[in-house]
Amino acid sequence: MRATTQILVIGGGPAGSTAAGLLAKEGFEVTLLERDHFPRYHIGESLLPSCRPILERLGVWDKIAAAGFQPKGGAYYFWGPEEWEVRFRPHGRDGSTSAWQVIRADFDKILLDHAREVGVDVTEGIAVKKLDFDGDRPVAAHWAEAKNPANTGRIEFDYLVDASGRGGVMATKYLKNRKFHNVFRNVAAWSYWKDAKELDRGPSGAITVASVGDGWFWGIPLPDGTLSVGLVTGRDSFNAARNELGGVDPVYHKAIGDCPAIQQLLVEAEQVTEIKVEQDYSYAAEQFQGPGFLLAGDAACFLDPLLSTGVHLGTYSALIGTAAIGSVIRGEISETEAWDFYEVVYRRAYERLLVLVSTFYESYRGKEHHFFRAQQLSEKDWMGMDVQAAFDRFVTGIADLEDTEEVYRRIQGHLLGDESGKHNPLDNLNRVHEHKQAPEKPEKAINGLYLSYEPQIGIRRA
Ligand code: FAD
Repeated sequence: MRATTQILVIGGGPAGSTAAGLLAKEGFEVTLLERDHFPRYHIGESLLPSCRPILERLGVWDKIAAAGFQPKGGAYYFWGPEEWEVRFRPHGRDGSTSAWQVIRADFDKILLDHAREVGVDVTEGIAVKKLDFDGDRPVAAHWAEAKNPANTGRIEFDYLVDASGRGGVMATKYLKNRKFHNVFRNVAAWSYWKDAKELDRGPSGAITVASVGDGWFWGIPLPDGTLSVGLVTGRDSFNAARNELGGVDPVYHKAIGDCPAIQQLLVEAEQVTEIKVEQDYSYAAEQFQGPGFLLAGDAACFLDPLLSTGVHLGTYSALIGTAAIGSVIRGEISETEAWDFYEVVYRRAYERLLVLVSTFYESYRGKEHHFFRAQQLSEKDWMGMDVQAAFDRFVTGIADLEDTEEVYRRIQGHLLGDESGKHNPLDNLNRVHEHKQAPEKPEKAINGLYLSYEPQIGIRRA
């Protein structure tokens, strides 16, 4: 293992391996330390088309396309009494899929191996234990082998990308700046089923999202023929039901029984794994950057899984992070400017999705259910964020990021779908917005800066 490196990346999930791979392709010396040995299990199987342009730029898309994952044509929602679909646009002239349902162990391994191939010094089975600082700036990491903790070392770096996921080395250990949201305090319980039926409507390979009294289910058809079936419900009601029914299994199975859309997929199916449970509370660090470091992916923020946005945010932050670090090292702009750009662009992307998730929940008709009431963002200051301003930014943001980068426009188009059912919640969002102040004129760039790909990925002056 090297004793020094230009850029250290902690974590080899989608955020870390995408950032490391892009940075290596830009010609930088990058070292990535990953605690586990891949392939390793991870939840988060349903991808958005927004990942495609980023993974193409990384040069890994063809490998993903060849891996035999399940093409994902979009999403189908059974939302209270209503049904609607989001249909993703196929990509390019050949009409190939723009998104996949993946087995994350395999997907993450392809990304990590690819990072290695494009020049990243990747070591698996090594955990970062401690960081050394020069003032507020992290400058070195102490590592230990996961299986043999006596094997330790130290590596110095110029820049740090913390992509350590929900563990969040910087945010939880040093900055202590992770804030959990008061909304979306949910619990997820999921397992895998074989011989499930295909959904008889909607885009092919779609994720099924179906509301149930006190929450919702995902149904994700996976390439190994199983269906990933997960229940997301409020923490309090989950705990109460678990006490009343005597465990997680009966809560999960009762909810399936109460959800005809999911039950019909499982009539002849057999549950082939134990139920896994995770609190999927949403959170964000108060700052996504600081002297010499950036937080990427779940290490920075996590959003309720309703719209399957986790891998999108991970790869997107990796792209902007690469631009920021690249431009600073090449002397194009100052670290302060680049980091501010990263913070603003990434946080806006997160806020936009946060508002969209809340709008989906708000569009649920059975609002007497506590769960759906609890998922509403209120008008008052929330987490230091002005929700009114976030709504405005959401609507104008599509335009202001348009000039910031072509990719983002494509992301928005894909994310919201080309064709939508009559109850597309975006209509609801627009209705909400009509009652508010007209949006300010969209900016061409953020603080006079925009993201560009030529000649390298970087942040340029407008
Ligand atoms: P991770 O994928 O978690 O990777 C972080 C890596 O860092 C890990 O491999 C870990 O071993 C390593 N690491 C941690 N600490 C250290 C250390 N100290 N030293 C070295 N290495 C370290 N997202 C979607 O896109 N679609 C979905 O359908 C979806 N469904 C979800 C359902 C649930 C219930 C939950 C909880 C999440 C879901 N997500 C989904 C979110 C998705 O799982 C994450 O957003 C995504 O994995 C984030 O990627 P990442 O690279 O930031 O983190």
